Amino acid sequence: MSMMVVMQEGATDEQVARVIARVEEVGASAHISSGDTVTLIGVIGDREDLTSLPIEAMEGVDRVVAILKPYKLVSREFRPRDTVIDVRGAKIGGGHFAIIAGPCSIESAEQVLEAARTVKAAGAHMMRGGAFKPRTSPYAFQGLGEEGLEMMAAAREETGLPIVTEVLDPRDMDVVCAYADVLQVGARNMQNFLLLAEVGKADKPVLIKRGPSATIEELLMAAEYVVKEGNRRVILCERGIRTFETATRNTFDVSAVPVIKLASHLPVVVDPSHSAGLRDLVLPLSLAGVAAGADGVIVETHPNPEHALCDGPQSLPTSVFGEYADRVLELARWTGKTVT
Ligand code: PEP
Ligand code: MN
Repeated sequence: MSMMVVMQEGATDEQVARVIARVEEVGASAHISSGDTVTLIGVIGDREDLTSLPIEAMEGVDRVVAILKPYKLVSREFRPRDTVIDVRGAKIGGGHFAIIAGPCSIESAEQVLEAARTVKAAGAHMMRGGAFKPRTSPYAFQGLGEEGLEMMAAAREETGLPIVTEVLDPRDMDVVCAYADVLQVGARNMQNFLLLAEVGKADKPVLIKRGPSATIEELLMAAEYVVKEGNRRVILCERGIRTFETATRNTFDVSAVPVIKLASHLPVVVDPSHSAGLRDLVLPLSLAGVAAGADGVIVETHPNPEHALCDGPQSLPTSVFGEYADRVLELARWTGKTVT
């Protein structure tokens, strides 16, 4: 069971501490959010233990509200203020907008370096690239593994761009954590609960991609698995879902953006590349996502998409990336986002 303790305006630190001590006495956990005027204490614990506590009668408490949603820690009721995540100085969420861009998969040191230089010059905030790739076919290129991560680290060294890369398997956690700045959980792994718990124990932000057949609630429950382990730095990603439509690789669910932002305090990014599967749709879908309130985009770009080992048809050539980023950042600013 979870509930929100709303303190009175002007409640003292001591009164807050007493409420926390009381709920912790019965084995429940307390999570504080200090607002401008009132302090909120989110509480998670056993229903019987909590209902027996006379919290509402304690000094400084205004009221106690039950949180009825199946997700608790990631819900807006629990934490009304947007979560802002700082990745090596690049901020996302709470009005901060970020572009994450790079190739689908790391293929060579030159390829990732050229992509990183291009996206950095265009104003992107982080670079993406897969070294452990979740491929539909076991015969397709599976990624360069640690060698690919080393190439990304070299590109980070030169450009300063933080690395967003996928961890496919809990057994790869150590090697991926040695290089990554943000751990990506891929769409196919969105309900790999062991992996979610593992990244929840890591000291790195996590980007969770929505499964192609997952509801928004299931995505939020996946995030709950991570936050429950103590890692509050979670970014959610809409990357298209499976529908009857065949004109696009997936169907971009633009409404997921405002739905998630209403339900949760976590930052939301859109992935127009995997949503569309076609490079001509990447700009319009990006703009749609930004207009709907996304806190960022994660997008694929490649120096030579015709020779890409993975997802060439949806990758923007690096030659047009600057123009693309200008349009996206212009709209982000227009919607009131801060772009650094
Ligand atoms: C990716 O972003 O590299 C990727 C594999 O995407 P998804 O998990 O959304 O299919
Ligand atoms: Mn891809």
